[in-house]
Amino acid sequence: MPELPEVEAAMNVLRRRAKGRTIAHLRLLHPAMRRRLSPARVRSLAGAQIERVERRGKHQLLHLTDGRVLHAHFRMNGDWECGKVTDELPRFARAVLEFTDGTRLSFVDSRALGTIELHPAGALLDLGLGPDASDKKWTTEQLGSALATRRGPIKPALLDQKLVAGLGNIYAAESLWRARIDPRAPSRSLTPVQVKALRRSVAAVLERATGSRYTDDSTVALDVYDREGLPCRRCRTPIERIVQAGRSTYFCPSCQV
Ligand SMILES: [Zn+2]
Repeated sequence: MPELPEVEAAMNVLRRRAKGRTIAHLRLLHPAMRRRLSPARVRSLAGAQIERVERRGKHQLLHLTDGRVLHAHFRMNGDWECGKVTDELPRFARAVLEFTDGTRLSFVDSRALGTIELHPAGALLDLGLGPDASDKKWTTEQLGSALATRRGPIKPALLDQKLVAGLGNIYAAESLWRARIDPRAPSRSLTPVQVKALRRSVAAVLERATGSRYTDDSTVALDVYDREGLPCRRCRTPIERIVQAGRSTYFCPSCQV
């Protein structure tokens, strides 16, 4: 599932290949895409220029010069594929943004769960998101007070975009492993030391994933996610997998306590 680092990489594609360009046509190739955008609204995009692009959590916002916002969300899968309007379409293209300069961006999504919406100019865009996981202004105190009032274990809590925006199943597990916190621990039982470790771990894991500082680090491979039965990279205990809220959780039963 694309999480903050993957969506940030997609944003880089949008910054290079969409920002400043004028839309000639948005082609919706999948019925689920057409259900959210009427033909009239799709037509209204012709001639609109993309002024800037913005990431909020895992959401991608393409701000048009007329104030409207084209809102893309990959959900379980998805990416942008660059090309020319004359190229053959990628296999799983669900929508295609064609620009007046003859280039295009295809919304490629094998699961076809991704969405594109269009918000009117001036609309208050409340995406129900908490602080962004990569925001340096997001404090340990904020995280601590949010967790103090929560029922349920910490791992599913980290997937709640209202608590913190941008984390998904992979980086939540990686962050908890790095902070040495048991994913089954009740959110409100975390000590201040654990909350601090978690906040720092989220930052470190995302920083490494986005390659901003650790690009030459040979340990860039994931530490715990999808490593069931393999030795913990810290203590060599086999990694275990459990299911929480319908999602796989990987953790070390020995050093995550
Ligand atoms: Zn371990």
